[in-house]
Amino acid sequence: MEGVSYARMPRVKIRELKDDMARFELRDTDASIANALRRVMISEVPTIAIDLVEIEVNSSVLNDEFIAHRLGLIPLTSERAMAMRFSRDCDACDGDGQCEFCSVEFHLRVKCMTDETLDVTSKDLYSSDHTVVPVDFSPDTSSDSAVNKGIIIVKLRRGQELRLRAIARKGIGKDHAKWSPAATVSFMYEPEIHINDDLMETLTLKEKKEWVESCPTHVFDIDANTQKVYVHEAENYSYDDEVIKKAEAMGKPGLVEITAKQDSFIFIVETTGAVKASQLVLNAIEILKQKLDAVRLSEDTVEADDQFGELGAHMRGG
Ligand SMILES: [Zn+2]
Repeated sequence: MEGVSYARMPRVKIRELKDDMARFELRDTDASIANALRRVMISEVPTIAIDLVEIEVNSSVLNDEFIAHRLGLIPLTSERAMAMRFSRDCDACDGDGQCEFCSVEFHLRVKCMTDETLDVTSKDLYSSDHTVVPVDFSPDTSSDSAVNKGIIIVKLRRGQELRLRAIARKGIGKDHAKWSPAATVSFMYEPEIHINDDLMETLTLKEKKEWVESCPTHVFDIDANTQKVYVHEAENYSYDDEVIKKAEAMGKPGLVEITAKQDSFIFIVETTGAVKASQLVLNAIEILKQKLDAVRLSEDTVEADDQFGELGAHMRGG
């Protein structure tokens, strides 16, 4: 009954965290879980995006479909998405997909009244839900409206007008890339680096410098006082083998040994801004857990059926 994959409990440790970026360790697990976590972050953590556009007036140079497409690509703040319903599963509106449980309504009404070209941007979208609004990309420190412009939708000239109603819905990247909360997700095996200190001490300072500099990603450094070579930042290592080739070229094979820890991964995640990086990681783990529980549940069901079958056989036999 003991599931092998449940004997080990993967651990996550955050290394670096910003609103739109996270670097973290995933430990005590294997590549299949690391891959699954990556896929869930890209294609299964839900966000909210504009999915239906009803154009009321459009006298701009862009056609309706193009404007609708652009609106769909505007990242919306999606903290609510996990708790929201998918329109297809919503029984409150019978699949209409326009009720408060499964949608958020937006309005946009802009008309250019001057000779100056008017930029219509994501800032002109008015949301019926203050928690679901276009992501603000302006730097925190800036209140300058020139910087704080939003994503451009269309430019209007004098007399041109755009008026529309839009419905945003919950979705996942698997359905359409516009719902993916992840800009990039990558991971690597955590490198384990051992310097052979005795062999290293047979090098002159000049040779040490030459060797340290042969690494394109600044993994090693030299202590200014002791002149000893040390591992400056193991995770900078890109498995390029340059320092190993260099050691061999210098007639010092075995100067350093680098292996990939098979059960430990370093992730770098960047979001579109729809959810914070920390939320993206947590939501992905939550979804992955649900998936694993579903697998375990179905395995248990099979086993329970088998036991029941055996019991049935006994009863028949007895
Ligand atoms: Zn609904």
